[in-house]
Amino acid sequence: MQQPLVIAIDGPAGAGKSTLGALLADRLGYLYFDTGVMYRALTLAALQEGVDLAVPEEVEDLAARIVIEVAPPREADGRQYTVLADGVDVTWAIRSPEVERGVSLAARYPGVRREMVRQQQAIGRRGRVVMVGRDIGTVVMPDAPLKIYLEASLDERARRRAIERRQQRDPRPLDEVRFDLARRDDMDQHVLRPAADAVMLKNDGLSPEAEVDWIMDYIAGRAG
Ligand code: C5P
Repeated sequence: MQQPLVIAIDGPAGAGKSTLGALLADRLGYLYFDTGVMYRALTLAALQEGVDLAVPEEVEDLAARIVIEVAPPREADGRQYTVLADGVDVTWAIRSPEVERGVSLAARYPGVRREMVRQQQAIGRRGRVVMVGRDIGTVVMPDAPLKIYLEASLDERARRRAIERRQQRDPRPLDEVRFDLARRDDMDQHVLRPAADAVMLKNDGLSPEAEVDWIMDYIAGRAG
């Protein structure tokens, strides 16, 4: 295939979408855009402002007013990008367990999704972008020439996420990580569905580098 200008990567939490997306974007010289950060930044703002996550109108109203920006890294502290919510750096704060527990609820509201999708499409249409999320191939960029749907078993995803937490000096017990992931899978079911033309990649035991090599071969028409 011709080098795709938009690559969509979808799949459940902890499937390795971010690692793969960032590596692939780097290899291609594309922008890496992790759309989950937008839902997370909204959720953090709701928690900070005392907006009740269980009240759709309140969360939708916040989604319409908040300005979320994803910019190149502004600190050399291991981040892949800087996330700003109304100008405030929330890059690490959006990774907290509280945000993680609330985000899937905020992401269910149609008014929230409409607003986030609209902003994501504006960035996607500029091209040369690897977009990572849940509904990129189905809703945000359904015309993306290359769509990848990543899968891995719950155990594998929990194991990886627990290692990631330890590296970020925020260790959490494996059981707790596994429980939260399973809960988020349930809550995200409404958007978690591969596009009909998505390439399905089950990556248990596959290194991110091997995955990127496979995708580059696929683009070049060499993958088996
Ligand atoms: O990918 P990440 O784990 O950061 O996403 C956080 C949450 O945001 C997901 O669990 C999901 O509820 C929501 N999300 C979404 N659509 C996207 C990206 C994320 O609903 N495109």
